[in-house]
Amino acid sequence: MAISTINPTTAEKLKVFTPLTSAEIDKKLALAASTFTQYRQTSLSQRSEWLNQAAKILEKNKVEYARIMTTEMGKPIKSAIAEVEKCALVCRYYAEKAAEFLADVPVSTDASQSFVSYDPLGVILAVMPWNFPFWQVFRFAAPALMAGNVGILKHASNVPQSALAIEDILSQAGFPPGAFQTLLIGADRVKEIIEDDRVKAATLTGSEPAGASLASAAGKQIKKTVLELGGSDPFIVLESADLDSAVATAVTARMLNNGQSCIAAKRFILAEAIADEFTEKLITKFQALKVGDPMVEDTDIGPLATSVILTELDQQVQNSLKAGAKVPIGGKPLDRPGNFYPPTILTDIPLDSPTAKEEFFGPVALVFRVKNIDEAIELANDIPFGLGASAWTTNPQERDRLIKDIEAGAVFINGLVKSDPRLPFGGIKRSGYGRELSIQGIHEFVNIKTVWIK
Ligand code: NAP
Repeated sequence: MAISTINPTTAEKLKVFTPLTSAEIDKKLALAASTFTQYRQTSLSQRSEWLNQAAKILEKNKVEYARIMTTEMGKPIKSAIAEVEKCALVCRYYAEKAAEFLADVPVSTDASQSFVSYDPLGVILAVMPWNFPFWQVFRFAAPALMAGNVGILKHASNVPQSALAIEDILSQAGFPPGAFQTLLIGADRVKEIIEDDRVKAATLTGSEPAGASLASAAGKQIKKTVLELGGSDPFIVLESADLDSAVATAVTARMLNNGQSCIAAKRFILAEAIADEFTEKLITKFQALKVGDPMVEDTDIGPLATSVILTELDQQVQNSLKAGAKVPIGGKPLDRPGNFYPPTILTDIPLDSPTAKEEFFGPVALVFRVKNIDEAIELANDIPFGLGASAWTTNPQERDRLIKDIEAGAVFINGLVKSDPRLPFGGIKRSGYGRELSIQGIHEFVNIKTVWIK
């Protein structure tokens, strides 16, 4: 894919970037490696100061950065602003907490003194997706930089201006040149970068094929990876649930970011007793959503990020209909310029149809009915993914079973699945491995060093 900004609202190509040459990549890797030798000696309080400064820059220019994101990938402007604010939050969180998370941990042994210490690894490659162009990068960069690592970013090819803006923010904040660099390159250059001796580890957020490709290249070099991949999260509603609250959350859970979020609720698994009422309420709420120009303050749903995503989503819906699914609302692209797809609900999806187990990356809700909690859990788990799950019940026994038996990296009871700097984030099964955020996130890219002194 060419590295360019194409406005998904108008399909207008706004800017094209020339990918870095091999010599330019080499120069940036050399700078990253040499910066690391000094950067790792900086104090935690100095790194905190820089990260707090980055938070201030983010907040001061939040509208400008939000507009870059909305222009490049179409998210509604109000959620783009909220995304920039959340980046400031994660910077402040790690600026404050890193000293505690990275402190030596004394352990009593036969030594006069033994402890665990956390050393940085070096240059870390981050391969990131377009859907949360700022947040995905900051949730990697804040802990990595606090731990004393340096970062190189290969961002998605459709968000180059976001990628450059992030590099600029961290540089303006005071981080030394080379502590965080953007590499404008295509996906085909990632393998040689992870194979480069100067790069010590990598993280990728994106699709399964991209994750598998990066992890196999890294595996050959015995380099650590963290993978945050796709999901098709269940949203289970049992009979005792507070239905109005569940429906209101269901709309946000499915439509966040124009439906293009890894932790969006994608499969609505409803107990028979409430299924009709829930579905009717969901249809009414979907009908009320405003689809349109994402730069307009009260737009709920903007365009999909690229024309390819629109075509793929449309194909998935058509395949579901061919397999026997019904579509009470939506079901085909809107007849207007840009990559617009309307809020859509699919019901009666045959469980053995391929699309029943696929990730729908857009505003399409798959609705399933179950007789009881056993069927709900079985259906929720009958999927290759295991990222998040939202489950609704007021019965404590049901709640405890859902928490224990759902196969996912996170279970939220009576609430929206969301990332929070204070809680670890990540998946199991084909949704990936490793964790971001919280103490677990900062410990992914460190050498957990055992120290034993006689
Ligand atoms: P994608 O195509 O995998 O792209 C993600 C990044 O990987 C981009 O920078 C892309 O570069 C790069 N890439 C693509 N193929 C690669 C390869 N073979 N080797 C190395 N890098 C490669 O994913 P997407 O379609 O943009 O994003 C949507 C997916 O990401 C969904 O499945 C979603 O669920 C998942 N996601 C997961 C999380 C999470 O935290 N678990 C968060 C957000 C999104 P180019 O742009 O140059 O191709």
